[in-house]
Amino acid sequence: MDFEAAVLHEIGGALSIETVSIGDLQPTDVLVRVHASGLCHTDLEVMQGSLAYPLPIVLGHEGAGVVEAVGSGVTLVKPGDHVVCSWNPNCGHCFYCDRDQPILCEPFAHHQPKGHLLDGTSRLSINGEKLHHFSVMSSHAQFCVVPESGAIKVPDAIPFDRACLIGCGVMTGVGALLNIAKASVGASAVVLGCGAVGLNAIQGAHLAGCEPIIAVDVAPDKLEKAKIFGATHTFNARADDVAARVKELTAGRGADHVIEAAGILGTLQTAFDCTRPGGDVVLLGKTDVNAQVGLRWGSMMGERKMIRSSYGGARPRRDFPLLAQLYLDGKLNLDDLISMRIDLDQINDGFAAMAENKIIRAVIEMRH
Ligand SMILES: [Zn+2]
Ligand SMILES: [Zn+2]
Repeated sequence: MDFEAAVLHEIGGALSIETVSIGDLQPTDVLVRVHASGLCHTDLEVMQGSLAYPLPIVLGHEGAGVVEAVGSGVTLVKPGDHVVCSWNPNCGHCFYCDRDQPILCEPFAHHQPKGHLLDGTSRLSINGEKLHHFSVMSSHAQFCVVPESGAIKVPDAIPFDRACLIGCGVMTGVGALLNIAKASVGASAVVLGCGAVGLNAIQGAHLAGCEPIIAVDVAPDKLEKAKIFGATHTFNARADDVAARVKELTAGRGADHVIEAAGILGTLQTAFDCTRPGGDVVLLGKTDVNAQVGLRWGSMMGERKMIRSSYGGARPRRDFPLLAQLYLDGKLNLDDLISMRIDLDQINDGFAAMAENKIIRAVIEMRH
């Protein structure tokens, strides 16, 4: 079967729209007709070379669509189901899956960086040569093949362009509050960095009933956006002593939950300085994996906890349908996350806008 996909052949090069092929479905494969796919910063990291993956590769890990066909052993979804894809499918029975840490699933951790599906092989090819999958998904294409644990049924009523966002940025940000910090009504929350993940952390705090919800960024337009997602207070890190202002709002203690969503080394110290004794710092941001972190020792004292999370404690089959329903009930804002809607052949324009920090999310509306 042949279809169109955006292919990355070289670091720093543009994506090219090409005809690629997909091999026969294996027993646990699900073939998804992709209707929408978000552009995420992690895709851009691969294009720029700061995240190393084998090439050529089809990027995209925020996809939604309709199940087109399933392998002989698939029981969780059927053709016609509307699905959001998970970029962290898991085997269900390895050391980590058995310890309720599916994000660390061993087959996933082993095969995913090699551009393979969970069975260690690729289904994709181009001109007869092997093509790599990205994060066991590759949704910047008209079709993608994922393991059944990566195809999550959601209500038919949610539009695909909004549904796809649940698969990465929304899950990570909202989940940081609901699943990782387990924020409760009346807890105080600070979110450092108001990009896509930060805005979703803010709306996660809003969903949990946090008060106050303090958003911090250096860009005034992002702070305005933060208010739409539920921020009760906004501080500009260039103009305000953020830790001092947070303490003013929290009886001098610091906040219960502080979410680092900026991926800046200096912000890490601010995160600890904003946290109350016994509170927690959740790190969502990313920077150079070899960067050395310097922290003032005293700022970590007082039973403070630090947790790094990549996917907001996602349990996709539990969380994706819930997030979709919250959207349909008017409680989760996905509409204001989308800055631009593009065709697949405009994908380089979308990434250029992202690289210039001009947008929250660009979403490809796939034509068939
Ligand atoms: Zn992502
Ligand atoms: Zn596993």
